[in-house]
Amino acid sequence: MALVVQKYGGSSMGTIERIRNVAKRVAKTYDAGNDMVVVVSAMSGETNKLVALANDISEFPDNREYDVLVASGEQVSIALLAMCLKSMGYKAKSYHGWQIPIITDNAFSKARIEKIDDTKIRADIKDGTILVVAGFQGVDSDGNVTTLGRGGSDTSAVAMAAALKADVCEIYTDVDGVYTTDPNICEDAKKIEKVSYDEMLELASLGAKVLQIRSVEFAKKYNVDVHVRSSFNDNPGTMVTKEDKDMEAVLVSGIAYDKNEAKIAVMQVPDKPGIAAKILSPLSEANISVDMIVQNVSAADLTDFTFTVTKADFKKALAITREAAKGIDAKEVVTDENISKVSVVGVGMRSHAGVATRMFQALAKEGINIQMISTSEIKVSVVIDAKYTELAVRVLHDIFGLSGKAA
Ligand code: ASP
Ligand code: MG
Repeated sequence: MALVVQKYGGSSMGTIERIRNVAKRVAKTYDAGNDMVVVVSAMSGETNKLVALANDISEFPDNREYDVLVASGEQVSIALLAMCLKSMGYKAKSYHGWQIPIITDNAFSKARIEKIDDTKIRADIKDGTILVVAGFQGVDSDGNVTTLGRGGSDTSAVAMAAALKADVCEIYTDVDGVYTTDPNICEDAKKIEKVSYDEMLELASLGAKVLQIRSVEFAKKYNVDVHVRSSFNDNPGTMVTKEDKDMEAVLVSGIAYDKNEAKIAVMQVPDKPGIAAKILSPLSEANISVDMIVQNVSAADLTDFTFTVTKADFKKALAITREAAKGIDAKEVVTDENISKVSVVGVGMRSHAGVATRMFQALAKEGINIQMISTSEIKVSVVIDAKYTELAVRVLHDIFGLSGKAA
């Protein structure tokens, strides 16, 4: 008998019919003799609606109340799934994040899980009850409802699996697994059987939206094997797991893109110590993370300082940056929201040189201008004009041999 954690995303829970389908799948695993904890997301589209409501009522919605609002989508899902299981004759019980409790810090809308107290739920599991847990939700040490950031149910599931030392953690979604790139852009994209935590972190952070980044960080930290698979068939999906020798033999595992960032450039900043900190500290104080950063070589003791943030943080980040720019005598702040980040990822890059060069050559051949570059041990990312995203992804997928065509 194993302890199985299954997570079903918004599309798997999108309609009453689909919730019935989820209940059947859960029941099948339970009937095979397993203990079960099921983590669910809000029905697809619901969280977006809630976010829109918040933005309709206020330009800068209050952080605490924002989480109370957006956490409500998951309340509907847990109740419906638990009801469905009960009507099928199973012992089931819904749980909010705070009822477990899943304790987080107090960074509303992007809270981090600090601790999961499993005492209460252990008793239910032992008693043969199927636990239906709201993803995305937590509670801070003052009892405030918190949420874990968009896509946060993945992290709830992995964290539950880690806390309960589950034997299996399955993330059910509407695709068969993690692909070498977005199949909507490149019809030759292939399912990856096995991907390392580090590669998945890059792929996830670069916009392959299958798993929330934090869920992968969690999985890596606690060594949870995560099986990403479809709730609409029984095909094996992608295992996200520890790196091994086979993985290194592959130069590039995937091409990711992200259209969800915007660029902010502070122009003609005096080039002296402390400037980067003066621009970036107010942003980090506001809990806004900055992704790529580029500073030009200075001319006449002036330099341009450019960075990217997510589109969700853009308005706030711009207001903060304008304030900071005044304080350091910068000439002006300019922005570009029509950008995208395209990246090639693979642990094989650790032992093979030349990936960046091949990437830049391929983009140049298509006449695509590179605006920013960043690299890590296992990835190369570029920022380009958003309108070239699809072209860039296809070209890179081909030249790194992922389409199965000759490079
Ligand atoms: N419902 C939340 C969202 O849409 C959490 C999740 O789906 O994982 O972001
Ligand atoms: Mg998701």
